[in-house]
This record gives sequence, structure tokens and C-alpha cells, in this order.
Amino acid sequence: MRRVIVIGAGAAGSMAAIFAASEGADTLLIEGTRDGGRKILISGGGRCNVLPLRVDESRFVTDSSPNLLKKIVRAWPLAEQRAFFEDTLGIPLEEETESVKLFPASHKARDVRDGLLDYARKVGVRLRMESRVVDIAPVNGAWEVTVDDGTVLKAEAVIVATGGLSVPNTGSDGAGLNMLKALGHTMHPTYAALTPLTTTDAAFNGLSGISLTVSLTAKSALQQATWRGGFLFTHHGYSGPSVLNVSHVAVRARAGHAPSAKVHVQWTALGEREWEEALKPHGARTVTGALRAEMPDRLASALLAKAKVEPTRPLTELRRDERLRLIDILVRGDLPWHGDEGYKKAEVMGGGVALSEIDPRTMESRRHKGLFLCGEVLDAFGPIGGYNFLWAWATGRSAGVSAAAM
Ligand code: FAD
Repeated sequence: MRRVIVIGAGAAGSMAAIFAASEGADTLLIEGTRDGGRKILISGGGRCNVLPLRVDESRFVTDSSPNLLKKIVRAWPLAEQRAFFEDTLGIPLEEETESVKLFPASHKARDVRDGLLDYARKVGVRLRMESRVVDIAPVNGAWEVTVDDGTVLKAEAVIVATGGLSVPNTGSDGAGLNMLKALGHTMHPTYAALTPLTTTDAAFNGLSGISLTVSLTAKSALQQATWRGGFLFTHHGYSGPSVLNVSHVAVRARAGHAPSAKVHVQWTALGEREWEEALKPHGARTVTGALRAEMPDRLASALLAKAKVEPTRPLTELRRDERLRLIDILVRGDLPWHGDEGYKKAEVMGGGVALSEIDPRTMESRRHKGLFLCGEVLDAFGPIGGYNFLWAWATGRSAGVSAAAM
């Protein structure tokens, strides 16, 4: 019987182990933490956004070929992934149509983590917890996997599912990336992605707790990202889906991959023409009144201060230069940012092993026979909304099936 060792019982590794064992391999799943799947437990605010309701592959971010990425994602269509959770694992999913997301109907991330590991055991996967793999080496056409207590395990195939660098206290500390680098794999530079941005701007620092829907565009010499969605002022800066989804552009610019990044914000659904209309003289209405009709009071005051417009000014007395300045701030205002919350808060890591290093049909390394890669170690991440689990499930399944079949 073919022996397969899967390293890392996170989202990708659990799925890989399930499919390797289901395809008839003698499968050992090795995990560094006591229980595994800790990122699943904290995902989606403890509810686990298992999958998106619909997929737009162009929303994934990679420095590798987008075509390779599409091939990998399409290998396990969304409808089949959904059916796996609902029918095979017996975890009913609930649609959130407005946010285009799928959650377990129980609203408990634990059901997903436990469901995966229980099913893995059921199909014959052996689990070895609290064991960190410290080395993997090809020896005489097979693989030797060294665990931190010195044990050396042998297998015909090894699946590396050790995750990225985000939220390291969940167990993914980059050790797997180092092992893959040592085996000669090309890495695209890694960076924190889907992470909040920070600011020292006094006016915006005082708005903590305010949330609204905005359109954000982050632009650097290297790349650009635009997102419309939730925005939250935090104690230190900004968070919410719109910020997280464009944050990688800012993070990379700050890390020196591009000279600088600007973030621009359209604060409401109103565009330039609609604001022209809203700021036309209207009875005794003040400029504050016009803004407050569209956004929270404290934000309206902060934006008027930035535009240097007196808040009590009646619209009838608003000068043309003031109106233009204000509209500019409202529809393409500069969002001052000075840093980011890094891997401590990042939902994923960007960069990682180049997709050209693996066969997209099997997830087998092009450098080493019998070595398979899946999940966040690879150079791809998606936006908030279940895309990152979709990537973990799809790559994990392909790796598991192929490792068992080789
Ligand atoms: P991980 O889940 O990180 O798993 C890697 C595993 O490998 C860990 O268990 C680790 O302990 C183990 N490991 C590492 N090194 C070793 C070693 N040397 N030896 C043994 N074991 C090792 N995505 C979504 O799609 N929807 C969401 O709702 C969502 N919410 C999130 C919320 C937060 C706060 C965070 C941080 C992430 C969220 N994500 C979400 C992203 C998602 O969790 C990750 O993309 C996904 O978990 C990556 O899966 P993975 O298996 O590649 O890595």
C-alpha cells in the first residue's frame, strides 16, 4: 500500500489527507499543534466562511500565471466542493446572499474543523498531533520526514500543507516554506495580505467605531486594487472587507516592492454628479446637513475639516472652490495610511512557492517526484469571502488524490 505523509492538519492538509486515504493510500497526517485546524476555528469571526457563493477567479492575487491559477481552482468546481461539505461531511451550509458567502448553518467554525478531522479518521487517516516536522528529504526514490522528537518516518509521497506566515500562533510559522526553499523551490516574495491598515492622521484616528460602505482604490507602481464594501475606523486605522482586500497593494509598496502606494476613497455611493446635485442651494440647509444625509455625523465633520469648509455654512453661501474641494474629497479623497498590522492580523500570506513549480493537474512539485504542495504555501490568495478556503480545499483535494495515485 502506498504510504503518504501529509504535513499540517489545517484546511488544505485535512482535505489532502481525506482524499489520499479515500483513494486507498496509507495516510499519516502530522500536525504541530495539539488539535490542528486552528485557523478554521478563528475564521469568519468564529463562523467559518467555508466557501464563496459564486467564484470570480480574476479576484485571486498571484505573481504567477493567472491561467495556471484558474486551472488549479477549476479542478474542483464550487458546486462539488459545496456538495462535499453538505453530503459527505454532513455539514449543512447556509447562504448569505448579500455578502455572497457560505457558512455552516450551525454558525460554528468548530463543526467544520471537527467534521474534517473526524471524517479523516473515518476514512483511515492516522493523526499524529503535537509533532512538528523539521526536515523532509528525498532518499533513494522515497521520502524521509524527520519529526522534532528525532523520529524519521518514510513514505513514497509527501504533501506539504504547512500554511503561510499569517497569525503564527495558529501553528503556521513558515517552517514549511523554509523546507521547500531548501529543496530548491522558487519563492515569490512573501507579504502580509488581507490585513488592516494603520494611520497617524489625527482627524481619522478619532473616528474609531464608525462603519460604512465605501469604494477603495489602492494604487502603486506595481499594482492596483479596487473594492467596494464595508469599511471600519479602528483605534489605529482602518479595517473591514474593502480595506483588507486592497491592503496587499499598500503592504507591498511599504516593503519596498514598489516605490509608494496611494489609497483613495469614495465615501458614499454618490458620484461627482450626484454630489453636485446634493450640494446645490436648498432652503436653509447647511453643508453639514447635506453630508449628514449620506454618512455618519462624525465622519461628515472630519471631511468638512479636511476640505476647510465651515460646517455651519448654508449651501446658498458655499463658494465654487469650496464645493469642488469638498466633492473631490468625497469621491476620491486621499485615505492617509502609514503602516499595516502585518502578519499578526493578516488573514493570509501573499507570495510563496511559484505556481510554475507545480503541475497544476496534480499539485506535484516539478522539482521533486513524490512531493506535493497545497494551500497557503503556494503563491495565491483570494479576497475575503471564502476564496482562501476554496483554494485550500481545491489544492488539498488534488494533492491528496494525486499522491495516492502516483
Ligand atoms: P493553515 O490553515 O495555516 O494550516 C497549516 C497547518 O500546518 C497548521 O495547523 C500548522 O500548525 C501546521 N504546521 C505548520 N508547520 C508545521 C510543521 N513544521 N510540522 C507540522 N505541522 C505544521 N479564509 C476563508 O476562506 N474564509 C474565512 O472565513 C477566513 N477567515 C479567516 C480569519 C482569520 C482570522 C484568518 C487568520 C484567516 C482566515 N481565512 C479565511 C484564511 C484561511 O484560514 C487560510 O487561507 C487557510 O487556513 C489556509 O489553509 P492552509 O491549510 O494552507 O494553512
